Amino acid sequence: SLEQGPEGPETPIQVVLRVRPMNAAELRRGEQSALHCSGTRTLQVSPPGGGPDVAFRFGAVLDAARTQEDVFRACGVRRLGELALRGFSCTVFTFGQTGSGKTYTLTGPPPQGEGVPVPHNLAGIMQRTFAWLLDRVQHLSAPVTLRASYLEIYNEQVRDLLSVGSPRPLPVRWSKTRGFYVEQLRVVEFGSLGSLMELLQMGLSRRRSSAHTLNQASSRSHALLTLYISRQTMPPGEPPMGGKLCFVDLAGSEKVAATGSRGELMLEANSINRSLLALGHCISLLLDPQRKQSHIPFRDSKLTKLLADSLGGRGVTLMVACVSPSAQCLPETLSTLRYASRAQ
Ligand code: ADP
Ligand code: MG
Repeated sequence: SLEQGPEGPETPIQVVLRVRPMNAAELRRGEQSALHCSGTRTLQVSPPGGGPDVAFRFGAVLDAARTQEDVFRACGVRRLGELALRGFSCTVFTFGQTGSGKTYTLTGPPPQGEGVPVPHNLAGIMQRTFAWLLDRVQHLSAPVTLRASYLEIYNEQVRDLLSVGSPRPLPVRWSKTRGFYVEQLRVVEFGSLGSLMELLQMGLSRRRSSAHTLNQASSRSHALLTLYISRQTMPPGEPPMGGKLCFVDLAGSEKVAATGSRGELMLEANSINRSLLALGHCISLLLDPQRKQSHIPFRDSKLTKLLADSLGGRGVTLMVACVSPSAQCLPETLSTLRYASRAQ
């Protein structure tokens, strides 16, 4: 588990792979899993036409039997939380095609009705981190101020999911002191786990979704919930330490051709890919030792601007790559596996 890892990451980005269970339709078709976990860190992929297996190694590989609690532990999110409490910017993001389990991994299954909470055992990484953090700050001697914002990036436009009234697109700006930030974004101070959970529910229910041939209610936007942790330093009088913990539910990574998108959906798919391509490009430049000091094109998309401080050295980034076990999804699964392996 990454939880037991040494202080500080061995690589700038830690990658965990999660395979979701077969869904009812896949089981009905009698599908066999195209993926096999060998050990805790290796995934074997059997090509459909036979031939040798292809192996991918990650920080951790979590098979379909892993519970939400297993995933939370294996991801070492508490370690990221500790770093955020010490003033670092940390990010957890889920990556994968629509239907691969990104939203489930971060926030659990969709609610069974208006106001019905997610059962405790199915809560995702976000709710578990929230509970851990609120408990943790109670045991700190110095006072901590906690604030949250929640936004989505849809067609390269930023919308505030916590806005009072209907959201309008907000500009992303840059300043020397703040780095990249969203102008007029609502940042809400909260003091209890209950009020943070309410902010999460509000944002989740406002996330934009559109009908899509792969998944009726698929989310075509990137959603970013950020916790701002400011901790009074000792001795008092010094400026407070400002850490951040950001959770990003990325839009589906599938290609335009795979979804049969047209018109408006085509525009969506293009801007989704633009952000994901920009993210992949920034990550590969960050990983290249020769390019370390050179220019990283964070400005190429809204997503990379908003993740710049976490990716660019002042923090730790954890990527949870999500895949389906179905052989029918294999082309997309392989592209997810390649993107994820290149990131570590
Ligand atoms: P994505 O956000 O990547 O489009 P979802 O998280 O919405 O995918 O998952 C697709 C469907 O599969 C949802 O109905 C979700 O509840 C279910 N699902 C995903 N992962 C799991 C899992 N590990 N266990 C049980 N159900 C899952
Ligand atoms: Mg989703």
